[in-house]
Amino acid sequence: MAKAGGWLGRVRAGLARTREALSARLDDLLGRDLDQAYYDELEEILLRADLGVGTPDVARAALREILVEALGSPAPLVLEPRPAVILVLGVNGTGKTTTIGKLAHRLRADSRRVLLAAADTFRAAAADQLEIWAGRSGADLVRHREGADPAAVVYDAAQAARARHADVLIVDTAGRLHTKVNLIEELKKMDRVVRRELPGSPVEALLVIDATTGQNGLAQAREFKAAVPLTGVVLTKLDGTARGGIVVPITQELGVPVKLVGLGEGIDDLEPFDPEAFADALLTPAAAPPGEGPRASA
Ligand code: GDP
Repeated sequence: MAKAGGWLGRVRAGLARTREALSARLDDLLGRDLDQAYYDELEEILLRADLGVGTPDVARAALREILVEALGSPAPLVLEPRPAVILVLGVNGTGKTTTIGKLAHRLRADSRRVLLAAADTFRAAAADQLEIWAGRSGADLVRHREGADPAAVVYDAAQAARARHADVLIVDTAGRLHTKVNLIEELKKMDRVVRRELPGSPVEALLVIDATTGQNGLAQAREFKAAVPLTGVVLTKLDGTARGGIVVPITQELGVPVKLVGLGEGIDDLEPFDPEAFADALLTPAAAPPGEGPRASA
């Protein structure tokens, strides 16, 4: 042991200059966004220490493995047996309504009958907005007047889902955090009503998080989690941030998978989350534009 320690000690001492140069510069990279400049710099650091050109590729492959492992397996929405219920939760402005519209559109394209419930009765504009998305996506809508009891909307929507043989009932909920206690009680009640009225239906509780708000989104998530057991996260606005890595702490800290990602404001800009594809998209520089590379013909 003493001998090994002595050997290690001598080697450590001998490597001091290389190590200092390497670790000081690696420290500079900590906390930076994983963009092309990051990789260029990492490559330069490794090359300066004469670690060889293959090392950056090895480091990138290792990072990909770590990410995929941290993100877990793909977690598709549970939509059977029908009617399936999807409660959509989240703070106002995160993209709840837009996500519901996009999701309704995806499900309609998959030939499913979709019913939307406007249970954010706090703002009349929310139901109006949802009505527009219902029209665009070809979904039905249940709404009450402004100020109505959200649980009553959910009750009616559950009856309508059964009567009209809907495949999926998507519930829009209020997201005002300033009346937190009421909001949480309201969400709990909606969850109870839907489970009571549609026994046997799977209930997804999806929390919408705006990727551009980063860590703040995580704090919100903990509060919603206290109201309703979350089954998944929708991470919106990934197209507008350099901090898409937030998906890793969200998955790890909340213990629920990211199920969908929002990639723009258009009706088609919602995709199921695929951890492997995400890791590749994060780590691999953009492919050559169509017509310029071998991928063009694929
Ligand atoms: P809500 O208050 O949570 O219902 O939020 P909205 O659905 O009204 O969305 C708030 C804003 O975010 C709108 O301007 C949307 O167009 C925009 N938005 C929603 N999802 C995305 C997304 O994935 N990418 C981008 N760039 N904008 C989005």
